[in-house]
Amino acid sequence: MNREHYGKLIFELSQPGRTGYSLPKNEFEEYSLIELGEEALRQTETLLPECDELTIVRHYTNMSNNNFGVDTGFYPLGSCTMKYNPKLNEELCQLPGFNLHPATPAPYAQGSLKLYDEVQRTLAEIAGLSRFTLNPFAGAHGELTGLMVIRSYHMSRGDMARTKIIVPDSAHGTNPASAAVCGLQIVEVKSLADGTVDVEALKPLLGPDIAGMMMTNPNTLGLFETKIPEIAKMVHECGGLMYYDGANLNPMLGVCRPGDMGFDVMHINLHKTFSTPHGGGGPGSGPVGVRKGLEQFLPNPQVAKDTDGTYSLHCDAQSLGSISGFLGNFGVIIRAYAYLLSLGKENIPMAGKLSVLNANYIKQSLRSHYKLPIDTVCKHEFVFDGLLEEYGGDHHAAEHVTTLDVAKRLLDYGFHAPTIYFPLLFHEAMMIEPTETESKETLDAFIAVMKRIAEEAKADPAMLKSAPHNTPVRRMDDVKAVKEPKFTFKAL
Ligand SMILES: *Cc1c(COP(=O)(O)O)cnc(C)c1O
Repeated sequence: MNREHYGKLIFELSQPGRTGYSLPKNEFEEYSLIELGEEALRQTETLLPECDELTIVRHYTNMSNNNFGVDTGFYPLGSCTMKYNPKLNEELCQLPGFNLHPATPAPYAQGSLKLYDEVQRTLAEIAGLSRFTLNPFAGAHGELTGLMVIRSYHMSRGDMARTKIIVPDSAHGTNPASAAVCGLQIVEVKSLADGTVDVEALKPLLGPDIAGMMMTNPNTLGLFETKIPEIAKMVHECGGLMYYDGANLNPMLGVCRPGDMGFDVMHINLHKTFSTPHGGGGPGSGPVGVRKGLEQFLPNPQVAKDTDGTYSLHCDAQSLGSISGFLGNFGVIIRAYAYLLSLGKENIPMAGKLSVLNANYIKQSLRSHYKLPIDTVCKHEFVFDGLLEEYGGDHHAAEHVTTLDVAKRLLDYGFHAPTIYFPLLFHEAMMIEPTETESKETLDAFIAVMKRIAEEAKADPAMLKSAPHNTPVRRMDDVKAVKEPKFTFKAL
């Protein structure tokens, strides 16, 4: 790391008159002035940094070294599925043939439309549903779209009374948020101590005002919801539809299908399960699938394969309308296609099974040091409730070592922290998702470090309280970072 430049703003590196480029002499100066007029001329100096090329290269290279990503180290962030994104996908999505203007007429975009249609069909097969739209831009956007499908379905039958949606207390925060944006009232259903939805608590909530129920499977605790057939039957009997939050589809891949479980509508997070780099909030894609009989409510435009084998865009009069410009985040769709084809039908189930094996391996290896509130076989992720008491994790004690302290210390050892303080069901929640792409050596190294941190917590809790110690930035004031974020650089 170049200490000389480290931590400086680009404006601090600026030296008057220094440049990293040279332009040819402007031979048209007099003409452009005639065309544009004096008023088009800038009256004040630009406040841009003035740097030579090498200074810029070092500045940005050093800055990128301060980032943590899947490409730099293990990233066990639960709920987010931070799997490795094969570089091949990046190359393929940059092929010049895909570099189309979004308004290109269908006859000149046949290849892209074919790819869209094949991804749509493959997802339908993986999900056990009839048809997908790839138009939504994120998981939450998919949720909104799916809920709008449910609303359109009820309205098409003239049933206007269904204004409520049931959401489990363990749901990802986007579920109630999307339902609220869709104009639905949220009815919360409690979970049992084993982390799954309480069927008895669900019964009294059902009625003629229920539009449907949202479920995540495996749920946000990484647990398979075993009572889905019973729940789906109850919701259907009351006239509601079943919505599947498929952001956690990874462990199910090729093993079981939401459509077969009784779900009517679902979304998938392509950027999580189907390998697109998605740190820092994007880019995303949240395809929405529906069972037979609901296809006409999907958003316009839809891609259709015509009898002569060509592809066209068409709009359905019963559609919920349009939810995005054009056909979604196409680069993400290409990456998903590349990922699906490179795994192939025979290897897709391996991804799901290995992600489950890896999660259970870490869980069993660390339960000697960390509190395991739900002691069952997990799917792709699981939750610890902080350190065991003998390692200083008793959160009733005044001076205890918290999940935040462990997470910060992990950074010192070169690992990204797991998701912390989510889900909200446990005081010191620490949610770990290794994904299928990590080797046993990496998992073992992570386990060893987690055990070592537990020993440190016992021997020297003060040291953990001030971690991280060897990262470019030490422990930050999280509250201040949220309350007073600085998004812009200012010239000094
Ligand atoms: C990530 C996630 C979402 C939201 O997806 P975004 O693409 O971030 O909008 C919804 N539900 C669950 C369970 C998730 O993990």
